[in-house]
Amino acid sequence: MRVEIVFIGFGSNLGDRQEFCDRAVALMNLLPLSRVTGVSSYYESEPVDPENTLGPTWFYNGVVRIETSLSPVRLLDILHETERALGRNEEHRSGPRTIDFDILFVGQHIINEAGLTVPHPRLHLRRFVLEPLVELDADWNHPSFHRSVKELLESLPEPGRVKKLDIIPGTKYGSRPACPPPPA
Ligand code: ADP
Ligand code: MG
Repeated sequence: MRVEIVFIGFGSNLGDRQEFCDRAVALMNLLPLSRVTGVSSYYESEPVDPENTLGPTWFYNGVVRIETSLSPVRLLDILHETERALGRNEEHRSGPRTIDFDILFVGQHIINEAGLTVPHPRLHLRRFVLEPLVELDADWNHPSFHRSVKELLESLPEPGRVKKLDIIPGTKYGSRPACPPPPA
């Protein structure tokens, strides 16, 4: 698989939200066959939750950009595993969560497989995703809408309750160079 630019969104609204986001960012630095090339600020956002399952606590959200040779399905597997490692409640996945990961974009690919839709089907509606995406790469093209993430953000109907936080993400656990590829 060739190297792709992938954007991964993360969010936490349970427990020590900053701590879980810092750990999420640190663990993205440990992904095999990958390297982190960008980390957005953290944003605090009101739960967007028509069915009211997420609870009242605001989320900490952010986006990481990586370059990876992992396949999207393998990456999603690892992200689910990492959610479990960080204490995600599998029985109540739609409830408050210590950490949630979403694959937002995989290059300019459009993927519709069982359990994996890319671009993430709701990202264009979510200010808490578009704001950090714009911070990382405002001109990034959404391959289905043929509009940049900046244009998508500008076309959102409401101001939305999303606050950029004045903290530096993910530095406490440091980062590492990418793993070398396995021997052939
Ligand atoms: P959400 O992130 O929408 O709150 P979950 O994290 O519980 O909900 O994810 C629900 C399911 O969405 C997962 O089981 C996963 O297989 C599926 N899914 C489909 N496309 C994606 C994607 N691009 N990124 C992450 N999960 C995805
Ligand atoms: Mg998710």
